Amino acid sequence: MSPFALSRDDRPDRPRPALSVIVPCYNEEEVIETTHARLSAVMAGTALNHEIIYIDDGSKDATVEKLRAIASNCAHARVVRLSRNFGHQIAVTAGLEFADGDAVVLIDADLQDPPEVIPEMIAKWREGYEVVYGVRTTREGENAFKLWTARAFYRIINKLSEVPLPLDTGDFRLIDRKVVLALRRMHERYRLLRAMTSWVGFRQVALPYERHKRFAGESKYPLRKMLALALDGILSFSVVPLRIVTAVGLCMAFFAALGITYALIGRIFGDDWVRGWTLMFITVLFFGGIQFIFLGIIGEYVGRIYGEAKQRPLYLVSEVMGPPSFGAIETLAHERGGP
Ligand code: UDP
Ligand code: MG
Repeated sequence: MSPFALSRDDRPDRPRPALSVIVPCYNEEEVIETTHARLSAVMAGTALNHEIIYIDDGSKDATVEKLRAIASNCAHARVVRLSRNFGHQIAVTAGLEFADGDAVVLIDADLQDPPEVIPEMIAKWREGYEVVYGVRTTREGENAFKLWTARAFYRIINKLSEVPLPLDTGDFRLIDRKVVLALRRMHERYRLLRAMTSWVGFRQVALPYERHKRFAGESKYPLRKMLALALDGILSFSVVPLRIVTAVGLCMAFFAALGITYALIGRIFGDDWVRGWTLMFITVLFFGGIQFIFLGIIGEYVGRIYGEAKQRPLYLVSEVMGPPSFGAIETLAHERGGP
C-alpha cells in the first residue's frame, strides 16, 4: 500500500511491535536473503512481537525484487523503498521514522554485525538501558588502512566535539523508543547517527562484539564517502575548526604587528631598510595560502548552512511494501505540518 493513501484514521489493525529492526540496503542482492533468514531466526528466538524494516536506498541491482519477495512471504517484513540513493545515514533515518517498536535495532545488511548479538542487546534494554551500542572488539577482513583511518577519525572527533563518541562504535545498536522519538526531532541534514545518539543522553551502555567480514558483495564506503562521513561528523558536532581559524588569525596578527614595528623602527632609525624581498615574498605566499585554507573551512560551514536552509525533505519514499505502519502515518502527519 502506498503510504500516501493513509490518513491518521487508518491506524493499522495490529498491536505495536515490541521491536523493530532497521536494515539499510544498497545493492545487497548477494546477501539480502541470507540476512533475512538469519535475522528471522534470531528474532523468532526472542519470542518478541517484531518487525524487520528494510530500507532500499535506491539499489540498482536485484535487491528490490528480492525484498519484494521477502515482504510478500514474511508477515514481519516491511520494505520502504527510497526514490534514489540517499546514503546510509539517511536510509537509517527513514527507517527510524517508519519503525513502530518499543525498541529499535539498527543493523547493516551485510552481516558484518552478527544478528546473534541482538538478544544480548535486548537483555541490556530490559535491564533499563535506553541505548545499547555495539563496540567492535575485532574487525575481521578490513585492511590496515581502514582500521587506521577509523581509529584516527574517532581520535579527532573526540578531541574536537562536545559529545563523546566511544572508540570503535558503529551504527549497530539498540535504542529505546524514547531515543527514537528524540532522533525524529533532529532534522539536521548532515548526520552521523552514532554521534547523535550520544548527544541525546539517556542511560547508555556498551556491548562488545566481534565484527565479521562482509558476508558477500563489497563495501559501499569507498575512501571518498568515508572522508565525507568523517567531515560531517566533525563539522556537525564542533565549532572547534572555526575557533582554530580565529586563534591562528590572532597569532598571525600578532606576528604582523611585530613585523610592522620592526620595519618602522628600521625605516626611521636605520639606513639599510631596502632589503628583505625574499622574506616579503615568502610572507605573501604563506599568508595567501593560509587565508585560502581558512576560507575553505568557513566555506564548509557556510555550505552546510545553505544545505540546511533549503529545508528539503531528507529523503523521498517511492514505495512501501508489507503491512502499514504507525510510523508512516506519524511521518505523513508531520510532513503535513501536524503534530
Ligand atoms: N548503505 C546504504 N546506502 C549507501 C551505502 C551503504 O544504505 O549509500 C548500506 C549498505 O547496504 C549496508 C550498510 O549501509 O547495509 C553499510 O554499508 P557498507 O557495508 O558498505 O559499509 P562498511 O561496512 O564497509 O563501512
Ligand atoms: Mg559493511
